[in-house]
Amino acid sequence: MLKGKVAIVTGSTSGIGLGIAEAFAGAGASVVLNGFGDAAEIEATRSSVASRHGVTATYSGADMSKPAAISGMVADAIRDHGKVDILVNNAGIQFVAPIDEFPEAKWDAILAINLSSAFHATKAVLPGMKQRKWGRIINVASAHGLVASAFKSAYVAAKHGVVGLTKVTAMETAEDGITCNAICPGYVWTPLVQKQIPEQAKAHGMSEEEVVRKVLLANQPNKRFATVEEMGALAVFLCAQGAASMTGTALPVDGGWTAH
Ligand code: NAD
Repeated sequence: MLKGKVAIVTGSTSGIGLGIAEAFAGAGASVVLNGFGDAAEIEATRSSVASRHGVTATYSGADMSKPAAISGMVADAIRDHGKVDILVNNAGIQFVAPIDEFPEAKWDAILAINLSSAFHATKAVLPGMKQRKWGRIINVASAHGLVASAFKSAYVAAKHGVVGLTKVTAMETAEDGITCNAICPGYVWTPLVQKQIPEQAKAHGMSEEEVVRKVLLANQPNKRFATVEEMGALAVFLCAQGAASMTGTALPVDGGWTAH
C-alpha cells in the first residue's frame, strides 16, 4: 500500500516510533529511522526492519533538539531516497515534577524535542511535498495534547502546542494534496512510560503498583495500555488514499480517557 513512498519517523529506535516505522515498512515504504541508543542495537534494528519487510531502511542520529541537525536529517533522506513523502514527528521525552520544582533545563529540552522539532522537520519537508502535490505529516501528540495532568507542565504545554501546529499545518497545505493529523495516545506500553513509573511514585508518594492502577490507568476506562502496533496501524491508515480528506484532526487513541 505504501510501496514507493519514503517515510521519516523521528524517535524510532524505540517504542511508538519503532512501531510506526515497522508498520510503514510492512506496508512497503522505505523508512528513515532516527533516535538515540546503542549503535550496535540500532544497526541490528535497521537491518532487521529492512530484511524482514524487503524495503530500504536508513538511520539518522540527528538530535531533535538541534534545528540544524533536523534539516540535515531531511537533506540526508532526500539524498539517500530521492524524496520524503511521509513525516512522523514522534521523538519525545518526559519529565514529571511540580511546577515550583520543575528544572528550567528540562522545560527547555521538552519544548525543543517534543514541539519545536516538529516545526523544524515540517518546514524542511514541505517544499518537496508541495512540489509533488502529495504528503502525509503525522504528529504524535498525546491525550496530554487535549487534557492536562498534574506535574507534567512542560509535556502538556508542548503537546497542546503540537495539536495547534497540526491544525496550522493542515490549513496551509489543504490544497496541496498534503494532510497533517495528530495522534493522541493515552498510555502506551513503551520505555517512556516504564521510566516514569518511579518518578510518578516519588511525586505522588505512592508505590509503583499504585501509580499504574491509580495514576496511569486511572483515567483510561479500558484499563489497559495501548500497543505500539495499534499506533502503527493508525499511522498507515492516515497515509492511505481513504484518509485523504482527514486533515487537521487530533485523534484520541486512549481507551476512552478523553471521552470523560
Ligand atoms: P520512547 O522513550 O520509547 O521513545 C522515544 C524515542 O525518541 C526514542 O527513539 C528516543 O531515542 C528518541 N529521542 C529522544 N530524544 C531524542 C532527541 N533529542 N533526538 C532524537 N530522538 C530522540 O517513548 P514512546 O513512549 O515511544 O514515545 C514516543 C512519542 O509518543 C513521544 O512523543 C511521546 O510523548 C508520545 N506519547 C507516548 C505515550 C506513551 O504512553 N508511551 C503516550 C502519549 C504520547
